[in-house]
Amino acid sequence: MTFDIAVIGGGLVGAALARTLGGTSRSVALLEARDDVGDGTSKANTAILHTGFDATPGTLESRLVARGYALLGAYAAETGVPVERTGALLVAWTSEQRDALPGLRRKAEQNGYTACGIVSADEVYRQVPDLGPGALGGLSVPGESIICTWTTNLALATDAVNRGVTLLRGHRVTSVAVGPSTTGISTTAGRVSARWVINAAGLGADVLDRLFGYDRFTVTPRRGELLVFDKLARPLVPVIVLPVPSKVGKGVLVSPTIYGNVMLGPTAEDLSDRTATGTSADGFAFLREKGAELMPRLLEEEVTATYAGLRAAIDRGDYLIDVDADQRYVLVGGIRSTGLTAGMAIAEHVSGLLSGFLDLAPRENLPAPPRMPNLGEAGMRPYQDAAAIEADPEYGRIVCFCERVTSGEIRDAYASVIPPSDLDGLRRRTRVMNGRCQGFYCGAHVAELVEAQGAAR
Ligand SMILES: Cc1cc2nc3c(=O)[nH]c(=O)nc-3n(C[C@H](O)[C@H](O)[C@H](O)COP(=O)(O)OP(=O)(O)OC[C@H]3O[C@@H](n4cnc5c(N)ncnc54)[C@H](O)[C@@H]3O)c2cc1C
Repeated sequence: MTFDIAVIGGGLVGAALARTLGGTSRSVALLEARDDVGDGTSKANTAILHTGFDATPGTLESRLVARGYALLGAYAAETGVPVERTGALLVAWTSEQRDALPGLRRKAEQNGYTACGIVSADEVYRQVPDLGPGALGGLSVPGESIICTWTTNLALATDAVNRGVTLLRGHRVTSVAVGPSTTGISTTAGRVSARWVINAAGLGADVLDRLFGYDRFTVTPRRGELLVFDKLARPLVPVIVLPVPSKVGKGVLVSPTIYGNVMLGPTAEDLSDRTATGTSADGFAFLREKGAELMPRLLEEEVTATYAGLRAAIDRGDYLIDVDADQRYVLVGGIRSTGLTAGMAIAEHVSGLLSGFLDLAPRENLPAPPRMPNLGEAGMRPYQDAAAIEADPEYGRIVCFCERVTSGEIRDAYASVIPPSDLDGLRRRTRVMNGRCQGFYCGAHVAELVEAQGAAR
């Protein structure tokens, strides 16, 4: 198999790249080490569609986050990726933090975002009445929004496949041999070759980069742990509540989730193990302490789930995107904490860089973007849709009662362009077993349905 372009990594960034390049007349392969797309960092973030108000002005990241915000917002509307335009409130708890607010607003303006407003303590408590005592004021960021990261990744990858991209799951790249016109790519599932190779391997980007002879950066996995509170907590948090950022990072936020819950986090802890996505007692203790300051009332609610994601932090304050024309190789590295928002803009940017070397004119008559199943709590779900249930009674058969997931949706996930490869993948496609009982009541029934799907295939 020889392709014009091989994209390595099926996270948000690789899927966005494959979709964009798949819209040209070039043949494209998307190689993913795991058995599913979106199973790395892209499945475990805080899922905020950032305006980029707090980016470092003048960086590539600042530009691509702002552009990605617009691109993904429009794409989500087209494909049915759920988004809620909640807005955010950055809260000052000390006089130093309050004094920093005008500077943060100026920074937002330098980043091209002009809608921030400084608000009084009264306004802070009007917007979030359950916030802990002691807030001195805030900065409103009306454009910050919440989104479904799982559906975004899946929509981009599905679109890519519909456009003719060859998706190769379970293909971990182990070595490359750069030849005069093509590069041989050895993977755990056989060999592929491509004229151009794009490295979008997230946490593994530096390892892959070394295969091309470089030694220019190291990825440090920066773990972010989060607590997810029960749906009953959602009315407490109508907007995203952000802390004033400090030198050590963006800090801990409280945010509604697109699935109708509330989350608290993330932590920021540099590790050496790139697989350490487990949560920790220290992380929980830290988050509970922060939560008690931010919103003591929240801690009276039940925690239904916990998770952790690893940011691909590198030793520089910007994305590291570079084209090596001699080896026909592109590095897309250091996409640390904004890649969900910026993914589509990164793809547009890389495509612009590559068009100096390859004909990347868009193809005509591209298939329409996929229409994704709605996982958002604010939109209509199949169990609520009388017309859908009448046309297909499987949408009336609830399997997971916490999240109200029907057997029709499980069946659809297996019949989709990129079916799940395991129970985790099914959870990301349907929300099944993600609720209060975490599969205690529905687990056996779901396992039966999954087995039946396997037997039918
Ligand atoms: C706690 C946390 C909170 C965050 N919050 C936000 C947020 O609110 N908003 C936002 O915009 N961003 C956020 N981010 C950042 C965002 O999640 C990431 O920037 C984004 O997911 C990066 O996508 P990616 O495709 O680069 O990486 P990944 O999703 O990790 O994808 C890389 C893929 O490459 C594969 N791979 C690696 N090595 C190989 C190999 N040798 N061969 C084949 N495949 C390989 C991996 O299996 C993986 O699937 C957050 C991140 C974290 C951790």
